[in-house]
Amino acid sequence: MGTLPSETVPMETLPMPSALVVGGGMAGLVAARDLAVGGMTVTILEAKDRLGGKVCHHTVAGIELDAGAESFANRRGIVSGLAAELGLTVTAPLAEGAWLKPATGNPVHLPHTSFLGIPGTPLASDVVAVIGLRAALRAEFDSVMPGIIGSKDLTLGDVVRKRMGSEVLEKLVAPIVMGIHSRHPDDLEVDVVAPGLRAALTAGGSLAQAVRSLRAASPAGSAVSGIEGGMAAFVERLESDFARHGGTVRRGDAVASVDRQGVVLASGERLEADHVVLATPLGEASESSIVLATIVVDDAALDSAPRGTGLLVAPGAQGISAKALTHATAKWSWLAAELPPHRHVLRLSYNVPAPDALEERARLDAEALLGVPIPVESVVGFDVVEWPAVPPRPHPIDGVTMLGESVSGTGLAAVISHARREAGRLLGEVES
Ligand SMILES: Cc1cc2nc3c(=O)[nH]c(=O)nc-3n(C[C@H](O)[C@H](O)[C@H](O)COP(=O)(O)OP(=O)(O)OC[C@H]3O[C@@H](n4cnc5c(N)ncnc54)[C@H](O)[C@@H]3O)c2cc1C
Repeated sequence: MGTLPSETVPMETLPMPSALVVGGGMAGLVAARDLAVGGMTVTILEAKDRLGGKVCHHTVAGIELDAGAESFANRRGIVSGLAAELGLTVTAPLAEGAWLKPATGNPVHLPHTSFLGIPGTPLASDVVAVIGLRAALRAEFDSVMPGIIGSKDLTLGDVVRKRMGSEVLEKLVAPIVMGIHSRHPDDLEVDVVAPGLRAALTAGGSLAQAVRSLRAASPAGSAVSGIEGGMAAFVERLESDFARHGGTVRRGDAVASVDRQGVVLASGERLEADHVVLATPLGEASESSIVLATIVVDDAALDSAPRGTGLLVAPGAQGISAKALTHATAKWSWLAAELPPHRHVLRLSYNVPAPDALEERARLDAEALLGVPIPVESVVGFDVVEWPAVPPRPHPIDGVTMLGESVSGTGLAAVISHARREAGRLLGEVES
């Protein structure tokens, strides 16, 4: 029997290509696992002694809590689809909803129909309560403007300002966007933080209509979901599935440089592979940009969830240093169910530099924001975690696949969908 010409050798008889994945955050881990499931020989190179990057946990008052990301956007079911593949239970936050502490006055409910704070119904009473009737009437003007206005603008700030006016931008959108992205909407590209918004604006003719159609595309209820037991379970499952498919992890191996054939480790060792995936920018670590202060309290006054799942704080709110507060036990029923009665987890975020005496500051901010006394004696646990800013977008490197939040945009929905798409593309190249 003669030998088959090489182009007709069946796939299964060819050795599968190898890949080096630099960075074991969610971007690298998801791509590495998809490549390993697809049959590649994959090694993750991770600088730290653990995988997951900004998805990880810490222990406060004996409770395992998410120390970074604690939920994900439901956009197109991307993250929940992966969770289901891994056998994780996706859970919706409790329906109390979130609040906003305006720059002046008492906290108010966040508008029910909104997207990143952009109202879907500008004249709804919950919008008027935040921005006032005059600003709501200006925002309503969006519905009679030609659809082209704002649709070519690049920043979220410009789109919202042109369509609905600066009061919607500063009083509603900015506090929410800054709570999520730590940057003002004027500094954020609309297509990165709100993919599909400009297309929906062009198709629907108004920004309010675009918001309503994006909301209708999300599964019923909340725009975000979580994982029962916490987001860190995601990392554990991905890691074990990756290992099950033959993947290798090298922890504590920082990569100094990459090219299309391989990487050089900080130790000087060179590794080579058919594919190189860079899932984190190399170079100087970014400065800290956000400080999370978690306090655990025993306080029956919090049982009624006085501010729903938490609050975002408008810039300039008098006497409050925090920029957001999550009442985690009012948000996630699985967490409340794990704790003794009246025990509550409050997570407050601060810009850097965080205020001095942060434990006391966090307690006072929580009291002011939640509108209930939180005595010093009720505090049973406290911890602080600092996170770096998102690094700037790296320059492309010929033949190297780039992933991660500085390329795909921040947030697990963006990071994971991009990582899966790119892994699929690499596997497709192998098959073609
Ligand atoms: C406090 C906080 C809360 C958040 N909350 C949410 C949320 O609720 N929902 C949501 O969707 N998103 C949230 N995010 C954003 C989300 O967590 C990130 O967008 C996402 O996790 C980024 O994943 P990544 O893999 O791109 O980067 P990272 O998680 O930063 O991972 C990068 C990895 O690369 C490693 N690395 C770096 N340099 C090297 C090197 N030279 N060699 C080898 N390895 C290296 C790092 O150690 C790290 O493990 C939050 C972020 C923060 C900070």
